[in-house]
Amino acid sequence: MFSETPLLPPRHSSLLDGISEASSIRLNNRIYELQEAGRDIITLSLGEAFFDIPLPSFEGLPAQKIHHYSHSRGVPLLREKLAAYQQEISTAPVDAAQEILVTAGSKAAIYMALTALLEPGDEVIIPEPLWVSYPDQVRLARAVPVMTPWYESVEEFGARVTPRTKAIIVNNPHNPTGRRLSADQLRGLHRLADQHGLFLIADEAYHEFVPAGERFVSALEHDPDKRHTIVCNSMSKNYGISGWRIGYLVAGASLLSQIIKIQQHLVTCAPTILSYYLAEHFESVLERTRPQIRRVVETRNRMGRLLADRGVDCLEGDATFYLFASLGGSKLNSDDFAHELLVRHGVGVVPGSGYGASCDRFVRIAVGAESEERLIRGVSAVATLIEETR
Ligand code: PLP
Repeated sequence: MFSETPLLPPRHSSLLDGISEASSIRLNNRIYELQEAGRDIITLSLGEAFFDIPLPSFEGLPAQKIHHYSHSRGVPLLREKLAAYQQEISTAPVDAAQEILVTAGSKAAIYMALTALLEPGDEVIIPEPLWVSYPDQVRLARAVPVMTPWYESVEEFGARVTPRTKAIIVNNPHNPTGRRLSADQLRGLHRLADQHGLFLIADEAYHEFVPAGERFVSALEHDPDKRHTIVCNSMSKNYGISGWRIGYLVAGASLLSQIIKIQQHLVTCAPTILSYYLAEHFESVLERTRPQIRRVVETRNRMGRLLADRGVDCLEGDATFYLFASLGGSKLNSDDFAHELLVRHGVGVVPGSGYGASCDRFVRIAVGAESEERLIRGVSAVATLIEETR
C-alpha cells in the first residue's frame, strides 16, 4: 500500500549549502524594514547611482517583434551598436555577427562564461575586494575560487597559478575601490594568461565611471584577436538602467559559439522590447547619462576628501561611485560597525566582510542614491563612529 511506504524527502543539491546570500542585499533588506517602520535612514549601501532618465516610449518600435523572443545572440541592431561602442572603448574590432552576445545583465554573462570554461576542480583567481557573485558563481560551476588579499598586487598573481588554474577575473574599473588597471598591469595579465593557457575575464561593468579627461583601458585593447580575453559589460551602471537587465559579453567567435548554448538553454534572449528600445535610442541615452556619471564620480571623490580630512583612509581609486573606507583604529569588525552605524546613526553601509576575508577592516560607502547634504551627514557619521569605537 502507498501509505505504508516510508516517506523519503527529496534533497536539493548540496552545492547550494556552500553558497551564501549576497551580504549587501541582506543589509539593504534590513534598511527597507527600518524605513517601513518609519526610520529615516541615509542609504550609502545601495550599489546604484540614480540618474534622471526619461520614461521610455516604445512608439515607433516594430510592434510585431517587440513582444516576442528575439535572436539569442541579441537583436542585430543592438549588437551592431554595442560592437561599435566596444570598439570605440577598446580600439579592438568586434564582429557584431559572431563576437558579441547580449544577455540579461553582466551577472548572467559572467556566469555563462564561467560555466563554459570550467571543469570541476579548476581554479579561478579572484582578487579581493571581490564582487560577491564571483566566488559563488565559480562554486556553482563546481570549481574552486582562489582569493588574493586586497594588498596583493596583480603583478604577484603569477605565484597563485597552479596546474588547475583556468582563469583570472578582474573587475576594471573596480567596485568598490574605483581602481583602474594600468596598461602595463593589463599587459602583465595577458602575458600570464599566455604563459599558462589561462582565460582572462574582464568585468568592465563600470567603464564609463572614469573621471573627466581620463581614458579607460579595456582588456581587449591588448588582446584584439580575443585569444583568451572575455569582456563582460552591462548597461546597468554605465547607463543607470540596472532593472532593464541588459548586459553583454565579447569573446572570440569559437568560444562564443559554445557560450551561446548556455544562453539558449537558460534565458533564450535578452529582454526583446528593451533591446529594441536601446538599439533605437542608444546614443541619446548615453548622452543623457554621461554628464550624470561625471557628476557622481566628482561627488564620490569629494566625499573621499571629506573622509580623508577626518582621518579616514580609503583604498586607492577614482573611477566609481563607491568608497572602500578603512575602519582604522575602530575596535569593531565590519559587520558590527555597519550594524552600530545603522542603529546609532541611521546610516547604512555595506560591511567589508562580504568582499573577502582580507576586507573585514573596511566598509563600502556608495554615493549614488542620496543628496549632497545627506551624503555629508552619512560620511561624517562613519568618521564619528570610528572615533567613538576606538
Ligand atoms: N559586476 C560588478 C562588479 C557589479 O558590481 C555588478 C552589479 O552590482 C555586476 C557585475 C552585475 O551587473 P548587472 O548584472 O546588472 O549587469
